[in-house]
Amino acid sequence: MAQRPFNFSAGPAAIPEEVLQKAAAEMLDWHGSGMSVMEMSHRGREFISIYEQTETDLRELLAIPPDYRVLFMQGGGIGENAIVPLNLSRGEAADFVVTGSWSQKSAKEARKYCTANLAASNEASGFTTLPDPATWKLDSRARYVHLCSNETIHGVEVHQLPDLKGLGSDAPLVIDFSSHVATRPVDWSRVGLAFGGAQKNLGPAGVTLVVVREDLLGHALPICPSAFDYKVVSDNGSMYNTPPTWAIYIAGLTFQWLKAQTEGSLTGVAAMELRNIAKAKLLYDFIDRSPFYVNKVSPDCRSRMNIPFFLADESRNDAFLAGAKARGLLQLKGHKSVGGMRASIYNAMPLAGVQALVDYLQEFEKTQS
Ligand SMILES: *Cc1c(COP(=O)(O)O)cnc(C)c1O
Repeated sequence: MAQRPFNFSAGPAAIPEEVLQKAAAEMLDWHGSGMSVMEMSHRGREFISIYEQTETDLRELLAIPPDYRVLFMQGGGIGENAIVPLNLSRGEAADFVVTGSWSQKSAKEARKYCTANLAASNEASGFTTLPDPATWKLDSRARYVHLCSNETIHGVEVHQLPDLKGLGSDAPLVIDFSSHVATRPVDWSRVGLAFGGAQKNLGPAGVTLVVVREDLLGHALPICPSAFDYKVVSDNGSMYNTPPTWAIYIAGLTFQWLKAQTEGSLTGVAAMELRNIAKAKLLYDFIDRSPFYVNKVSPDCRSRMNIPFFLADESRNDAFLAGAKARGLLQLKGHKSVGGMRASIYNAMPLAGVQALVDYLQEFEKTQS
């Protein structure tokens, strides 16, 4: 098969070709079962084996400690914006660190269920910086502190998770890691709960990963739907209702692919982190050197995954996108709220894809001068 185009979509996003090939090969008959994974009972031996392997591989990849539960849910990151306060707030208060569109949405949704304090915001900078944790106004009554650890739209990433205890707070940290899960290790000692939709780095849309410390289970509000009560989901091994079996299976294939990735002596997520650093550096270095392209995010909090950039001459945007598409560089248009361009370079994007983009940026710049 010919080289597929490089897909820079923010999500649903590129999936490793090997994963797609394997799923295609197993589509009609999974491992001699005579069934597609889509046609299997979620309670049957075959699917249970897929599920267990998927959870085991994820725990290994992310080094999830034994006192954290792994839940495969539905409703996406946006669903979790309601599900987290329904489970953790006890109808009281929660703190929000607003660093871009996604955390802003989370705070707004939480207001339906609890008091959502604005602990810090970088909106005045146009979401191009991160508020220093030392300046956060944490509420001693907050049941949790919400932080989006990678703002997919504004291209802002938290490179070191805050130590809330060191800031005088006993509340658990909740992170929305939708768009950078499995692209770098997670410091679980600083996290009470992490959630993320799968469609950026883990697989197809339809499954939402939740990793939650055991002591946070069992505090859901009475109005919380049973299917969204973390304790109910956990007690039933994510099978209180029918889980998104196909999406879990593809995520499982992606985890096997991740485990097989190496960079030097590193494997898995550590290898991906090294590769992701190199990919992001290649693109940012080029943008910073060129007078024709600009990224406005402060270098200390630039995302390795989502790189928004603008052409100095925005009247050339349509020509830029058409030329990119003709070269097999897809879905580079920026989010409508920000404009310009955005290159999302998740785990499935190889260094060669970023190099192809840089080559195109350079060539397009030349034709414009
Ligand atoms: C994509 C994304 C979401 C939304 O996920 P849905 O699956 O559409 O609900 C939430 N948070 C972040 C950081 C995202 O990147």
